[in-house]
Amino acid sequence: MRPEPRDDLRALSGYHSPQVDVPVRLNTNESPYGPPTAFVERWLDALRGVAWNRYPDRAAAELRAAIGGFLGQSAERVTCGNGSNEVLQSLFLAYGGAGRRALVFEPTYALHAQIARTTGTGIVEVARDAEFAVDVDRAVATIAAEKPSLVVTCSPNNPTGTVDSRETTEALADAADAVGAVLVVDEAYGEFAPWSALELVADDRPVAVVRTYSKVWSLAGLRLGFVVAPEWLTADLAKVQLPYNLSVPTQVAGTLALDFRAEMAERVAVLVAGREQLRDGLVACPGIEPFPSGANFVLFRVAGDAHALWTRLLARGVLVRDFAAWPGVEGCLRVTVGTPEENDAFLEALTEEMA
Ligand code: PMP
Repeated sequence: MRPEPRDDLRALSGYHSPQVDVPVRLNTNESPYGPPTAFVERWLDALRGVAWNRYPDRAAAELRAAIGGFLGQSAERVTCGNGSNEVLQSLFLAYGGAGRRALVFEPTYALHAQIARTTGTGIVEVARDAEFAVDVDRAVATIAAEKPSLVVTCSPNNPTGTVDSRETTEALADAADAVGAVLVVDEAYGEFAPWSALELVADDRPVAVVRTYSKVWSLAGLRLGFVVAPEWLTADLAKVQLPYNLSVPTQVAGTLALDFRAEMAERVAVLVAGREQLRDGLVACPGIEPFPSGANFVLFRVAGDAHALWTRLLARGVLVRDFAAWPGVEGCLRVTVGTPEENDAFLEALTEEMA
C-alpha cells in the first residue's frame, strides 16, 4: 500500500516559481549582480583551513555576533537559518501548530500561508486595502477578536512593494502584544525601504524582524537568513532548530560579507535608481499602471490579458512574474529590478508588446 502524506497536506502542491533559462530573468527578486570578487576570494581562502571532519559551531556564535554588531543588536537577539524561509518556518514551528492560528495580510508572500499549512497552523486572512496597505483599524479589531498566535506582515510587501508605516507596525505590535501573539515583520526587502522595524525590537515587545542575504548581499545561492527578536524569542526558536543547521561555508560567508557593506550600500543605491527607471518606463507605457514600491521590484496592472502579455514577454526572452490570476492582484505582473541594460530590454519589449 502506497503511503499517503498527512490529510492536511493532500491539497497542497508546494511552492513553485518557474526557473526558465532566458537572457533577461526578472522574476525572483534576486540581485542582478554577483557578490564582490574580493569577497569570494576571501571566502574560498578561509574555507581551505576548515576542519571538515568536524560539525560547524552549533550556535553560529561568530556569525550572530557579526550580524548583531552590524545592526546594533546583541548576538542573543539573532537567530540564523538556511534562507529566511527556514527562519519563517522556525517561527511557525515555535509559535504556530495545531490549534493555533496565524494572521496574514493578503495579497502577500505566498509562502507565509504555505508554511502555516505545512506546520498545521490555521490561517486568518485580512485583506489589504485598495492601495495594498494594511487597514490598521480592521487589523487591530481582527487580532483582538481572533487571538492569533502569529501576526505576519511583510514590508516592503511581496508582491505589491507596499511599505508599512512605523505607526502601522507599532499598532500591530501593540495589538499582538495584547493577545500574546508574535508580530513577524518579513523584511526580505528591508534594505530598499525608507525605514526598518528593526528599530522596534525590544525585550518587552513581541516583534521579530526577518531578513535575508538573498537580495542585497547578492547571495541567494548561499541560503542564509536571520531574525532579530527579543532574547526570550531566540530561546524559543532554539527549541525547534535542527542542530548544526548552518554549514561552515554559510557561517563564514555570512560573517565575511559584512566587511563589504560599502559595496552593498552602493548596490542598494543602484537598484533603487533602477527601480525609478522601471517606474518611469512603466508610467510612460500605455495600458500599464505601476504601483509604488519600496523594494527591488515593481508590480504593475495590465489593461487586457496580463497572462498573454507574460507569455509574449517570455517569447522575447524576458521573464517576469505572472500574478495575472492571483487573488487580490489579478491582472498584474511583477518585474524585478535588473541591471540598467536588463531594465531597458524589459521596457523595450513591454512597450512594443503594448503598442
Ligand atoms: N520573504 C519574502 C517576502 C521573499 O520575497 C522571499 C524570497 N522570495 C523570502 C522571504 C525568502 O528568501 P530567502 O529564503 O532566500 O532568504
